[in-house]
Amino acid sequence: SDSRVIMDESAIRRALTRIAHEMVEKNKGIQGCVLIGIRTRGIYLAKRVAERILEIEGHPVAVGELDITRYRDDRPHIAESSITTPDEELKLLVKDKRIILFDDVLYTGRTIRAALDALMDCGRPQSIQLAVLVDRGHRELPIRPDYVGKNVPTSRHEQIDVSLQEIDDDDCVTILHP
Ligand code: 5GP
Ligand code: MG
Repeated sequence: SDSRVIMDESAIRRALTRIAHEMVEKNKGIQGCVLIGIRTRGIYLAKRVAERILEIEGHPVAVGELDITRYRDDRPHIAESSITTPDEELKLLVKDKRIILFDDVLYTGRTIRAALDALMDCGRPQSIQLAVLVDRGHRELPIRPDYVGKNVPTSRHEQIDVSLQEIDDDDCVTILHP
């Protein structure tokens, strides 16, 4: 097997800065927006973009987190106790807000479908947008991202490895060929 770096530290930094600008432009500011990261790496991406938005707009933006393992239709064996954000906390964060979901890699779209279910259970957001660091294709549902760090055409056998400084050694996206 071999691996190839497709985003280094600078490329990740620039992509997140661009996404922050796109987000501010699309939403005409950041009023009413809440960034929600999907565990684990989506949370760090959401926090980084929130830092950029503070620099750009001079206003803080709320950041929340979501663990959707309970809602995955293809992983029925995972216990409900794996939910990290209490529903009450999420309810307050979601109601009437413009939600921007963050994940590291978008693949079939099933995780995002599950995240939409989880958010709808919390109340009625005004709207939901999606930001991902990598879109690797192979969608099985009608889901598309509003903000993309990098489009990476992959085969189903390939794997994307996302390393983020907050939990891994460095900032790096690698494609692994079996
Ligand atoms: P989906 O639900 O769209 O099939 O897969 C997306 C979810 O699985 C994301 O939460 C993502 O973290 C993970 N995932 C799917 N494919 C990959 C991949 O190639 N690399 C990484 N790092 N995560 C993936
Ligand atoms: Mg994930």
